[in-house]
Amino acid sequence: MAKLFEAPLGVNTVDIRKKINGMLSEARKEAKPAICIMCGKPQTSFCNSHSVPQMALRSIAENGIVIHASAALGVDERIIDIENGVNKSGTFNYICNDCDNTFFQDYENPDNIVQPPTDKILAEIAVKNMLLQLSKRAVERKLIEIQQRDYNAFDNPEVGMNVKNLDFAEFENEVIFHKNIVENNEFGGYQIVFWKLLPYTVPIAMQSAIAVTRDIEGVEINNIYDMNPNIRMQYLHLAIFPLNGKSVVLAFYHKRDKLYRRLRHQFNCMGEKEALVNINYLVFKYTENYYMARKIEEEITTNDALQRLSQENDGMPSLGMLGIDNSFGIGYTPVSKNDIPNFLAPEWAV
Ligand SMILES: [Zn+2]
Repeated sequence: MAKLFEAPLGVNTVDIRKKINGMLSEARKEAKPAICIMCGKPQTSFCNSHSVPQMALRSIAENGIVIHASAALGVDERIIDIENGVNKSGTFNYICNDCDNTFFQDYENPDNIVQPPTDKILAEIAVKNMLLQLSKRAVERKLIEIQQRDYNAFDNPEVGMNVKNLDFAEFENEVIFHKNIVENNEFGGYQIVFWKLLPYTVPIAMQSAIAVTRDIEGVEINNIYDMNPNIRMQYLHLAIFPLNGKSVVLAFYHKRDKLYRRLRHQFNCMGEKEALVNINYLVFKYTENYYMARKIEEEITTNDALQRLSQENDGMPSLGMLGIDNSFGIGYTPVSKNDIPNFLAPEWAV
């Protein structure tokens, strides 16, 4: 199938790569906040934080290398990396070294994470998920400014900027909300949708907060098109941590996010195999912060349904960019959970 972000023939891909990387590194540099959101102290140097714990990435790395989600998106490999070392995979620079080294200690510990999760562990995972989103929006805001400055890229840059600013404020609130739960040692706030310690190492490491649009029966959960700033998106937290000879698979939400009650009930009514099929589907449908073992690279880059699913936006093809070449999405059948391989099943273990 057609690749996204493929360089036109005759264009020097080295130049494009340099330009993209140049813009990205400038945006990342400028997006760093003056004070650390976690401790409130002024920052001069920023930690290279891992959005997915290194213990999980190392469990699936081959010669230190993991495959990135861009492989599933079908990008032009000459421009965007589809693999990288553990040290350069899923990192962000947003909080200080002290906070990075201390705040996440409970869950980033292979002995703790294999136990049924405590509220503190769930809250730490939620903080990490929201920090990644926050840091991404901070970088994207700077990218809009840079693209506008250098290329006059947008007719109305303030429209895109407004959306990013709303997202940014929302994620900032989410970080503080879950951080308070850790610091105040609050209990009973989270609902676990699924938790399982599998007796094998799955080939995917990930964690993300996602705004699910529809439940298992197709009933709406979040309306992502509602731009009313008073409507707060509700988030489901997903985590898959492969470890040595075992794996933790986890889905949870905070009780204030009531829209997930039906989904939780649906998960409670299905067997483990079916639950894993559904979580595997959520990963490819909603997230981009996942890292994979070399073992599944060929399947990821050649499976047509997987590539289509990664490019879907709310059931529409080509990231929702509709036009003549995809018949404006008319007649497009969204990829279903049973069309793609279930990498959480034992046959895909590494
Ligand atoms: Zn700090």
